[in-house]
Amino acid sequence: AINYISVTFPSRSANEAFARTAAACFAAQLDPTLDELGDIKTAVSEAVTNCIVHAYPDSLGKITLKGRILEGGIVEFVIRDWGRGIADVTQARMPMYTTGGEERSGMGFTIMESFMDKLRVRSSVGKGTTVVMRR
Ligand code: ATP
Ligand code: MG
Repeated sequence: AINYISVTFPSRSANEAFARTAAACFAAQLDPTLDELGDIKTAVSEAVTNCIVHAYPDSLGKITLKGRILEGGIVEFVIRDWGRGIADVTQARMPMYTTGGEERSGMGFTIMESFMDKLRVRSSVGKGTTVVMRR
C-alpha cells in the first residue's frame, strides 16, 4: 500500500462517529468529491454499527478499522471484529435480511455494496467477522 492507517477501539456506540470520520479523513488525500466521501462514511458507518450491535450484542469487544491507499487512486477499508460471527454470509447479505428484529431494516450490507465498488465479507461463528471494501 502507498499509505495506510490502523485504529483499534471498543464497541462503544460513540466510536461509530469516530470511525466514520476517521475513514473520511483518510480518504480525503485522494481528493474525492463530497458525494464520494459521503458514500465512504455511510459504508464504514454501516460496517462498524454491525460490529457494535451484532458482533458484541451484550458486551464490549475490540473493533479494528484499517485503511489503505492502493495503486490507481483506490482506497480500501477493512473493518474487523472478534465477536459472534455470521453463520451464513450469503443470507446475511440479502436485502432486508436481519436478525435484529423490528429495530433493524436489514439493509446494511446492501448499502455497503451499492455505495462501494467492492465488498467482501468473511466470517466464522464464534470467531468474528471481517469486511473489506474498496472505492
Ligand atoms: P440495518 O443495517 O439495516 O440496521 P442489519 O444490521 O440487521 O440492519 P445488515 O447490516 O445487512 O442488516 O446485516 C444483516 C445481518 O447480518 C444482521 O442482522 C446480523 O445478523 C448479521 N451481521 C452483520 N454484521 C455482523 C457482525 N459484524 N457480526 C455478527 N453478525 C453480523
Ligand atoms: Mg447493519
